Amino acid sequence: MERKQFLKYLAATSGLLAMTSFDKLGELFEEQDSIMPVLFMGHGSPMNAIESNIFSQKWAALGKEIGQPKAVLCISAHWLSSGTHVTAMENPKTIHDFGGFPKALFDVQYPAPGDPVLASELVKMVKKTQVGLNHDWGLDHGTWSVVRQMYPDAKVPVLQMSIDYSQPMQYHYDLAKELAGLRKKGVLIIGSGNMIHNLGMVAWDKLNDDNYGYDWAIEFNELLKKNITDKNHAALINYPALGKAAFLAIPSPDHYIPMLYALALQDSQDQISLFNDKLVAGSLNMTSFSISRNTISHNTPDVPGKDTANAMDSL
Ligand code: ZN
Repeated sequence: MERKQFLKYLAATSGLLAMTSFDKLGELFEEQDSIMPVLFMGHGSPMNAIESNIFSQKWAALGKEIGQPKAVLCISAHWLSSGTHVTAMENPKTIHDFGGFPKALFDVQYPAPGDPVLASELVKMVKKTQVGLNHDWGLDHGTWSVVRQMYPDAKVPVLQMSIDYSQPMQYHYDLAKELAGLRKKGVLIIGSGNMIHNLGMVAWDKLNDDNYGYDWAIEFNELLKKNITDKNHAALINYPALGKAAFLAIPSPDHYIPMLYALALQDSQDQISLFNDKLVAGSLNMTSFSISRNTISHNTPDVPGKDTANAMDSL
């Protein structure tokens, strides 16, 4: 018996129906069930957009499991700005914001529509700051590399919200909390970055190794996961206090901040589930999580080894 059925059964047999009509109870549980999950995606190499590997296979499986949302709102590590902005154009362009990759990656177009109405709703929803409507950006690879694998037919409208890089970590966490209402409107919110992201220390000779991390990266990945599963959000917001490993793992917070947006949206009824928990080339991790009312299975087979190497051909 599923949870909803069980609760209805419980209500029917416990006299609760005397207080609440069956229909109203049904509506209550329908609302609970319709709250969209939230994802933090370690996006890694842009090549993950066009390769089928252990990471992108998880993304595709998630897309199938979650189904098509009303829209996707992505906070990508690759849109740093002054002030907070949300894309509000009808047709966001595909931004190829990288260099040195194969032509096949530059040839990718992800023609998902925008949703100007939803962008305006978001602006009204946020009280903490003035969110600007943006008509110039589009979808950078932090967004389309992930969303393309989840929803390859590009039918779901996609918005991006920028990261005001002048603000402290607490600002981002608090701002994200104001977006919680979007989950009830069927919007899938995705933070896209990498919690451990030190490009200056990448072990290029270890690109082919599965799950290779420096000692400090292994230590910090474990610390991150413990704080995430323990709901110790304060420690994650104040990450410099986590010690020396934090300085090596997060030399700049651009790829870390999207994680805070996802984390902030966890409420007391949500389950949190880790996936793609792998270290790459010493100084990066792909560790990701989903936040949802019901546990997401992440039910795709792990294929160790060569596919990880393919994912990291270049950075
Ligand atoms: Zn990136």
